[in-house]
Amino acid sequence: MTVVVFGSINMDLVARTPHLPAPGETITGHEFFTAPGGKGANQAVAAARMKAPTKMIGRVGDDAFGSELRQHLAAAGVDTGAVATNAGVSSGVAVIAVDDAAQNNIIIIPGANGRVGESDVERLAGHLVGAGALLLQLEVPLPAVIAAARQARQHGVTVILDPAPALDLPAEIYPLVEILTPNEVEARQLVGFEVNTPDDAARAAEALLDRGVKTAIIKMGAQGVYYATQTQTGDSPLAEFVPAFEVKAIDTVAAGDAFNGGLATALLEDQPLATAVRWGAAVGALSTTKPGAQPSMPGRAEFERFLQAQGE
Ligand code: ADP
Repeated sequence: MTVVVFGSINMDLVARTPHLPAPGETITGHEFFTAPGGKGANQAVAAARMKAPTKMIGRVGDDAFGSELRQHLAAAGVDTGAVATNAGVSSGVAVIAVDDAAQNNIIIIPGANGRVGESDVERLAGHLVGAGALLLQLEVPLPAVIAAARQARQHGVTVILDPAPALDLPAEIYPLVEILTPNEVEARQLVGFEVNTPDDAARAAEALLDRGVKTAIIKMGAQGVYYATQTQTGDSPLAEFVPAFEVKAIDTVAAGDAFNGGLATALLEDQPLATAVRWGAAVGALSTTKPGAQPSMPGRAEFERFLQAQGE
């Protein structure tokens, strides 16, 4: 069984500066670096590091970043055979300025991610045979996300949608989704009220189940995770708040993507939902102990040592 990820592949271009430039201003910054990102690619790397056989479906441009992004994915163990290259389009990039007060400005250019469409959904169909889960996010065009979810349902493959970044979703998407995994901000966007406490999360999850998802998992950062489901697996409860593992967090970038990679790996290995949520939370927590998005995803051995140390 494989985890298939259909989504975005980005290069983050990060400039560290004393302050953010005003319109028309030129400033000299401290340093510059590139880092592979994109929610789709991050989730693929998280699953592959957890030793789930993982395939990525997406697009890069025919620029230098495109081949670098492929190499990064392959080095993490992700099968990139179904990543297409667009001629004459840039790879997806995020141009990020971060100042000394940790304030940032971000420009996202979807580039090749914005070209993900029908032909990718057709290519996806061939990879759904033998797949255990399809991981989706919202950084490629929404019609393609919906069509991909529909394909997966037709193949009996579990659809895990991370509704990130926060967008309004059409009603038709909810019944196609087995597991919806918003964070607090995305949950608020979807349900229309603040989601700050486990009680709020319980109400939000209930609202999302009413719209047709089978399981709602609300990721609540350092607080932990709340989940509610219509379909009981094993001895898992129907709803539960799982407090976060205590770690020394230094960089929470991509913790949510780490969570989804851990969750999918557990489900692929037939773990019940309650265990899968804990695996997600453990991978999410471990990812906050290291800087960066993809470089912070823990390996399987590190994850197992951590769970054992936590007595799980
Ligand atoms: P997102 O990155 O989508 O905003 P979260 O910040 O909620 O997602 O992180 C996803 C999961 O990772 C959380 O539900 C939690 O289990 C774990 N996590 C995130 N931040 C921390 C932290 N500071 N300490 C421990 N676990 C964390």
